[in-house]
Amino acid sequence: MTLRLFNTLTGQIEPLEPADGKALRMYACGPTVYDYGHIGNFRTFLQVDVLRRTLKLLGTTLRHVMNITDVDDKIIRNAAEAGVPIGEYTKKYVDAFFEDLEALRVERPEQIARATEHIEQMVALIEKLAAAGAAYKTEDGSWYFRLRSFPEYGKLSKKDLSGMEDGARVDVDEYEKDSARDFALWKAAKPGETSWETAIGRGRPGWHIECSAMAMEYLGESFDLHAGGEDLMFPHHENEIAQSESVTHKTFARHWMHVRFLLVDGRKMSKSEGNFYTLRDLLLKGYKASAIRLALISVPYGNQLNFTFDSLTESTKAIERLRTFRGRMSEGKFLAGENPELQEAAKNARTEFFKALENDLNTAEARAPIFELVRAANTAMDQDQFFAADRDAILPVLQDFDAVFDVLEDRDAEATRRALDWAREAGRMDDVAPELLAAQSLTDEQIVALVEERTAAKKARNFARADQIRNELAEKGVILEDSKDGVKWKRK
Ligand code: AMP
Ligand code: ZN
Repeated sequence: MTLRLFNTLTGQIEPLEPADGKALRMYACGPTVYDYGHIGNFRTFLQVDVLRRTLKLLGTTLRHVMNITDVDDKIIRNAAEAGVPIGEYTKKYVDAFFEDLEALRVERPEQIARATEHIEQMVALIEKLAAAGAAYKTEDGSWYFRLRSFPEYGKLSKKDLSGMEDGARVDVDEYEKDSARDFALWKAAKPGETSWETAIGRGRPGWHIECSAMAMEYLGESFDLHAGGEDLMFPHHENEIAQSESVTHKTFARHWMHVRFLLVDGRKMSKSEGNFYTLRDLLLKGYKASAIRLALISVPYGNQLNFTFDSLTESTKAIERLRTFRGRMSEGKFLAGENPELQEAAKNARTEFFKALENDLNTAEARAPIFELVRAANTAMDQDQFFAADRDAILPVLQDFDAVFDVLEDRDAEATRRALDWAREAGRMDDVAPELLAAQSLTDEQIVALVEERTAAKKARNFARADQIRNELAEKGVILEDSKDGVKWKRK
């Protein structure tokens, strides 16, 4: 089975396979760690996670590299304002980024590459560009890429560069101009700024050179796939191609994947628009990490997604249905035998699930047959038409689903607890939803003690006390479920 993925470079859906027949070498642009990421950023990382997990499920070995941009204009400015070295400033956000990835169950790439640890490779690449006539130094000691030297510029984003002015320069990393300009490879040190003394002068790298140098360092001059959010296509990825291919004369990345934006009321979620939520914001409002994950991946990466709180509520319910069903399956006692309709349904759901993912990672079409299967199986259980062999047929289908979606295991309480610990330290307790505070006011031990007291009260036929305890727990967001095997509790 092979994944077929849209390739921005060719404009077509094409098979994605390791060229060396061994491991799929991929590079995905990582975060700039000047602040907490918002869930738009995380949508991109989550969709790359869907890609990763699908490839693994299909039996592909991965060599996945992600960079951390830990030096740039904003970082330098913010660190200076805070009066700390940039490494100290970024540490907090690097840690927060990995904590957020963990809460969202995003797998770690095989290799994390920090910009500040690869200055040497960037300088070496700029020297090669200069030798090839593709880079030049300006009076202030900065280095620029000469766009005119690379006629293929624009081949990824399909931009028409006919009006381009030779020598017109831009030194900011992110620019939205339609007409391209010579861009900065290396910025000469300004007084008081963080900088490195190197063979090409004292200064610091531009953003684009980072990714070219680190991708080639770990993946070679030519590799299988490069990914990032849609805003990176131009100029960032276009610049990466120009910098790399000018030196190697080989195709830099064969396949390019771009994740479409998360929107808010039709506009891109972004720091500068102010229309963003961080993961922490949402956890403190009482939404669960698993629901945020499911909501952000359920619309395929190739479509923009409008963020709504309703989608989080819908995802919460959907996950609840799945978890309850799995609990029913693993704890229920079923007679030997099978229900032929369910056997057929399980087989079809699995086929549909894989077909949808293999077809350009269509997560929406991949999850639908799984929920349909759960509905059919629940109905069969209610009618005593569910048998041991049905469980054996359905469990592996759920496992495959969860190998990609990863929402079945309930680890939400842990993520929420961490967000609350953070809120306490960061002085953000005012942002915590009252229900969440109430739910956290009892420790697990206190809950267990109350549940035991209620069981004892019921035995002693003291139903008033038993009800009182149930209500008290409900007010604090703890739900009780009486079952054959005793009482179970969970936090809402
Ligand atoms: P940054 O930390 O700004 O470099 O962004 C990290 C990643 O998030 C990049 O791949 C961006 O393309 C992506 N990104 C930024 N905003 C959004 C958004 N609203 N929706 C989806 N991805 C985004
Ligand atoms: Zn990059």
